[in-house]
Amino acid sequence: MANNITLPPNLQDKIHTDADAIKAASTDYGHIITQNPAAVLFPSSMEDLKTLIGFSFNSSVPYTVAAKGRAHSVHGEAMATNGVVVEMTSLSKNSSNMILIGGDKASGFYADVGGEQLWIDVLNATLQKGLTPVSWTDYLYLTVGGTLSNAGISGQTHLKGPQINNVYELDVVTGKGELVTCSKQANSELFYAVLGGLGQFGIITRARIVLEPAKTKVKWFRIIYSDFDTFSKDQEKLMAVKESGSGVIPNYLEGQLLMDPNSLDFYPPEDRPRIASLIKQYGILYVLETVSYYDDRTKHSVDKKLHQLFKSLSYLPNIYSKNVTYVEFLDRVHADELVLRKKGLWEVPHPWLNLFIPKSGIQAFNNGVFKNILLKQNFTTSIVLVYPMYRNKWDDNMSAVIPDEEIFYTAGFLFSSRFNNWKVFDNKNKEIMEFCDKAGIKVKKYLGYQNSKEEWINHFGSKWKTFQDRKTQFDPKMILSPGQKIFN
Ligand code: FAD
Repeated sequence: MANNITLPPNLQDKIHTDADAIKAASTDYGHIITQNPAAVLFPSSMEDLKTLIGFSFNSSVPYTVAAKGRAHSVHGEAMATNGVVVEMTSLSKNSSNMILIGGDKASGFYADVGGEQLWIDVLNATLQKGLTPVSWTDYLYLTVGGTLSNAGISGQTHLKGPQINNVYELDVVTGKGELVTCSKQANSELFYAVLGGLGQFGIITRARIVLEPAKTKVKWFRIIYSDFDTFSKDQEKLMAVKESGSGVIPNYLEGQLLMDPNSLDFYPPEDRPRIASLIKQYGILYVLETVSYYDDRTKHSVDKKLHQLFKSLSYLPNIYSKNVTYVEFLDRVHADELVLRKKGLWEVPHPWLNLFIPKSGIQAFNNGVFKNILLKQNFTTSIVLVYPMYRNKWDDNMSAVIPDEEIFYTAGFLFSSRFNNWKVFDNKNKEIMEFCDKAGIKVKKYLGYQNSKEEWINHFGSKWKTFQDRKTQFDPKMILSPGQKIFN
């Protein structure tokens, strides 16, 4: 018994109710919401998950259960008020939950990975065999189960689709406490439900991830624009370059706003005054960021082919580039994390807003949001990402929601509130949403919380009925991931 809920007696040793365990499970990367669970489970096998969820499902007073990966959500998505939080990373202490690599060249390589594993560990393990996952997030200290519950996007999405599109098979413990293996071929309804399913249908205990042969090195470029139209046209031009045997394609394509003359670390010191004066002149610069992977076999041809590619683009002089290893590139945000941690700026409120914007609205979005709401009101110091992707690289059967246009953009407002003034940023987020609403830009929130059930219904649009039916099928007692506040 913990806080008026009755828990399975055979999990006693693994269930913690002490203040430290409760505190650690009551907060997240957002540092905006605090919700105490009644108890925290430190599982050592998926049997423990089946027992925990099955006990709740068979009880006349079910308790809620939230899988917690790294709690890198920002609005309490991995919390369970007065329920049970499952510390998924505790599973990785069990040696049977290792990362196993299989398959072959003809049928494709894969890695069988525990849902609790961090992507950085998946990268390191697969590289030992010369292989790598194909689709990433910008930051790798996130769990496989956590990102697959959303979508998992980054600069590879335009080419490979989101992470949820690069999964062959899943093991899932459903809201009934049953362990089910699912794929496009077997138990497909559960497979599609869980991918992008915000933790609503089951806990992912294993994912079979698509792998490909890894390149070892990366050419990493940034080019600058003063005009959004030219910038986005060039992004789309690069996005349209087809994958070929040569290895020289934009393997990664993103973009960001440059409004702060104090954030020029990527650029050579001698060029920084010139870039700062361009910021002064234009207010916002748009930085196109792209990358080509290469190895010893392709190192001679890569420069020539890239030069050819850049010739067709209309950026301001110069091309800024770095040569780094594959791991250095993929793990780049961790370096920023270490710097921010040292300054005490990592564990601060993060009122983030991530949106998907249909291409038809992106010009109006630039004028109304980037130029008006951010620049004119002096919100110029945060990281703001903006880059395009294709709808046809996503699978509409999955739960993730995207705009209804062939090309759409993502914009990430990665606000960080050093002075605990997160409400100021949150109000900005509201202003952005209100602007889109008034301008008729049909944006979809990514990773986003909604304020009410009506907003969730609106978010899912034509997918709502399927989402709801799947909930009834796989988690009829509404036990799982209550922190998303969709059904609870
Ligand atoms: P948690 O926050 O612990 O959980 C998220 C949700 O998933 C919760 O509802 C939880 O109950 C559920 N869940 C967790 N594990 C499981 C499981 N095994 N099975 C089923 N449900 C589960 N996202 C991107 O797409 N692209 C990026 O580039 C990107 N960059 C980021 C950078 C930083 C610095 C941070 C903090 C976040 C970033 N994110 C990005 C967002 C990130 O992908 C999500 O917040 C993700 O959910 C975090 O993973 P987590 O393991 O911390 O999940």
